[in-house]
Amino acid sequence: MREMGDEALARAAAPVPAHSQSISPQQYANAQRAIRGQELTGGFMKASAGDDRTLVVISLGHGVEKQARGEDGQKHTVIDRGAVSAGGITESELADRVGRKLFEYLENDDRYHVAFFRMPGEIVDQKELAMSHLEARAHFMEAMKRQLGASRGVLLDLQANSSASPRDHGMEVVVDQIGRGRDGTATNPNSTALAQHLLAEIEGYQGLRNRGVKTYNARTLDAAEKAAPGNDDVAVVIESLFLSNPGDEKVADYTVRRPQELAERIARGVLSYELAREEAEKTLIAQGPDDQAKPSQGTLVADISASGVSSVGPKGG
Ligand SMILES: [Zn+2]
Repeated sequence: MREMGDEALARAAAPVPAHSQSISPQQYANAQRAIRGQELTGGFMKASAGDDRTLVVISLGHGVEKQARGEDGQKHTVIDRGAVSAGGITESELADRVGRKLFEYLENDDRYHVAFFRMPGEIVDQKELAMSHLEARAHFMEAMKRQLGASRGVLLDLQANSSASPRDHGMEVVVDQIGRGRDGTATNPNSTALAQHLLAEIEGYQGLRNRGVKTYNARTLDAAEKAAPGNDDVAVVIESLFLSNPGDEKVADYTVRRPQELAERIARGVLSYELAREEAEKTLIAQGPDDQAKPSQGTLVADISASGVSSVGPKGG
């Protein structure tokens, strides 16, 4: 067991809201009911007219109670906390600590509605959900958007990597791809743009290696993007480091105790993506009626490469 200081314990115990004040408790409760197949209360409640906020869903990886078949062939109830480092740091613990801080950076910015899929420290019971907890993260974003009348969603799934080889290390951001296998074409180029903005800000954090944007078939991301027309919903998995690597584990230990820097870098990445999106939309509107017909189809990748952010391909081998 690692020891926590009094200050860290006090912080861990402090309550954190499930959503920003721009979201009503009933809207949040209804989105949670939707992924459990329960009836909604009070119907849909649109946000005030002119609301143009982007919904940011913080999806804390793992933290799920589910049934798994043991070596005896029987089903057992297990708590999935994701990968575990040699010293006992879990993926869900790392995600919870960073996510809690990330919420603080985003909640008071009136660009965003912010909501947690699950709360830091909470264990979601898979039995209660009407779908897999991976898909539920995406469907929660869609349900939340409908409740708010919001037109854009950003799903940030916070995870950490693990590998059979202790030598693998560094950060990567994953976007969903078309089809199976690895390193194919991203389903949504705007998700790739978000991933690039995030990596540009996270790069340099505690000396972690930047492994770039990865594309592979990820159910959470797939469902998030398919639910929205055009490229209005973007979704990424942030794999901040490898818990299986001794050097990265030191960074994990530091981050669990002091999550603010990584959280702030993620918040800056989201903001820089949002600014690029706003700029791209202005350009599309200025181009006239032909292009205005489908403003949501705009792709931000070109803007990113033009601004000099290093692009680590969705292609590549
Ligand atoms: Zn994971």
